[in-house]
Amino acid sequence: MSNTQANPTDYNTEIPPTWCPGCGNFAIWAALKNALTSLGLKPWQCVIVFGIGCSGNMTDFIRSHGFHALHGRGIPVAEAVKLTNHKLQVIVVAGDGDTYGEGMGHFIAATRGNHDIKLLVHNNHVYGLTTGQSSPTTIKGTKTKSTPQGVIEIEANPLALAISSGATFISRAFAGDIPHTQLLISQALQHRGFALVDILQPCVTFNREQSYAWYGERIYKLEDTGYKPNDRQKSFVKAMETEKIPLGVFLKEEKPAYHEEIAFLKENPLVEHSIASIDLNPALEEFL
Ligand code: SF4
Repeated sequence: MSNTQANPTDYNTEIPPTWCPGCGNFAIWAALKNALTSLGLKPWQCVIVFGIGCSGNMTDFIRSHGFHALHGRGIPVAEAVKLTNHKLQVIVVAGDGDTYGEGMGHFIAATRGNHDIKLLVHNNHVYGLTTGQSSPTTIKGTKTKSTPQGVIEIEANPLALAISSGATFISRAFAGDIPHTQLLISQALQHRGFALVDILQPCVTFNREQSYAWYGERIYKLEDTGYKPNDRQKSFVKAMETEKIPLGVFLKEEKPAYHEEIAFLKENPLVEHSIASIDLNPALEEFL
């Protein structure tokens, strides 16, 4: 690949996506490639850590440094990559089950630490890859394969959780609007610290409730209302709205990222530190 201007097709692999026709994942895939390209980022400057799920299958369809993590463990892998080489743009692509179910503890820890990773959640309100069981964001009362009488629990509110845990960039997109999704991903990529883009992603095969039309009747953009994303309490109130669904940036704050608080990473990334002068013998003596 040449060192010229990046192009979205630079991120394509030889493998065409295998998602169901009409799946919202296609739009997120396009928006992510467009956002990376618009910022002049080349595939070798990015590490994308994928979770398990239909969204995680993107690992086959996008060219960059990458890692396909265990279920729910994409976030700590991404944190480790960033701490090792903070010059890289580090992104997590995962689903709602992966992130807000198996990975919920890691999600909260990443927000509290302001780790400089960008989390794109394909939120389709079900476990799609395993054919439609309820996930933490499935709306109460919804009948799924695993809840034939309807979900009993109330749905998790990831934006409210992130806001209350100290996250510094919190946003919501809709996969039916590629330019707006691209815009929010671009803003997340430029944020210093942890950034969440929760992307409402219709699963046309296993979630017939939250369809493109269902979202079309409910979504609106915060920026069209004069909303300013600079007040944590107001952002919490917006995150708690359910009848109408706000999209856009809920909150943006400037704070040092996790790696910026570590003194010996100030000058160089860990990967550039010399290990020639490190004497491991004292540490090893204990085991001799
Ligand atoms: Fe997309 Fe749902 Fe098909 Fe998975 S099962 S590829 S989320 S439409």
